[in-house]
Amino acid sequence: MSTSTESSVSLIIPLFNEEEMLPLLISELEVFKGKRSEMIGVIFVDDGSTDKTASEVFRLTKGIPGYQVIRFSRNFGHQMAISAGIKRCQTDAAIILDADLQDPLDIAGKMIDTWKKGYEVVYGVRSVRSEVSVAERLTAHWFYRLFRSLSEINAPVDTGDFRLISRPVIEAFNTFEEQQPYVRGLIAWLGFSQTGIEYERPGRAAGKTKYPFRRRLQLAIDGLTSFSAKPLKLAVNLGVLIATGSIIGLFWVLITKYVLGTAITGWASLIFAAFFFGGIQLFFLGIVGTYVARVYDEVKRRPRFVIKEIWDSGNKSASGGSNPVNQRLNDPN
Ligand code: UDP
Ligand code: MG
Repeated sequence: MSTSTESSVSLIIPLFNEEEMLPLLISELEVFKGKRSEMIGVIFVDDGSTDKTASEVFRLTKGIPGYQVIRFSRNFGHQMAISAGIKRCQTDAAIILDADLQDPLDIAGKMIDTWKKGYEVVYGVRSVRSEVSVAERLTAHWFYRLFRSLSEINAPVDTGDFRLISRPVIEAFNTFEEQQPYVRGLIAWLGFSQTGIEYERPGRAAGKTKYPFRRRLQLAIDGLTSFSAKPLKLAVNLGVLIATGSIIGLFWVLITKYVLGTAITGWASLIFAAFFFGGIQLFFLGIVGTYVARVYDEVKRRPRFVIKEIWDSGNKSASGGSNPVNQRLNDPN
């Protein structure tokens, strides 16, 4: 909690099978807490880990004040874990960061300093991504730019979820109830005064990435479909273009038959055209389906995540005892 003299900051750290990371992470967090004059708290969100993540956090932070663990009943995904952390935090500002120290704590410190100069959102901009392959770097590069050109929001490029958000932004963020939140997009959408800090993104300190290609692609699709309806409109433009082309083609066919008198050969080109347009139709049907699925998810209005336990390292009563299963903590309230 903030006092009149010092401000308070929560570090929101999602954890999914990060047991190998924890000893180093927690010792780095302690160093960071020691360096800062603000009150620093840590909110871990255990996103349904199947290894010893939760028990390791309890063991390593027991008795050290300032650590909370929100435990999900199963894996709900990184974006949901962040959303739960933001909902829980009560400090003047929050910083979202990865558990694997890819989002360096000294940059988090700089974010706090920048926030104190009056910015409401301070995001990290990746200058070098030494940990990823050239192919991944290129796809990420083009995705950020595609997203920017398709969506109507002014989203900064080359940023992940590593960012500081101040209390007013936290409050505004908590009013979102999207079933598949794309956190970085939603924060950009909110506005406020935003600025970036460039940093070199190191490789993972331990363990393996929890974002295989399939999940990365899903995140990209979620991001695009939640911030742009342009892919849907693309079908209209393409349809008009093809229809115009086919009318011109029809004239050409008539001319060759009745004016030039040459018979048209070419079964191959015909079958090619049939497959080609079949493919295009399926592609756009798929795009429409993706949006319909999103609408379907939204109208069901299921709780977005389920919390099975909230644990507090320093103060057990804050979490309601040793087995604080509390339905009211679930989302939506
Ligand atoms: N994570 C999570 N739930 C998931 C996948 C990942 O909470 O389903 C967490 C993970 O523990 C890490 C962060 O999200 O703290 C980012 O994941 P990761 O570092 O594997 O992603 P990358 O940096 O490779 O994109
Ligand atoms: Mg990482």
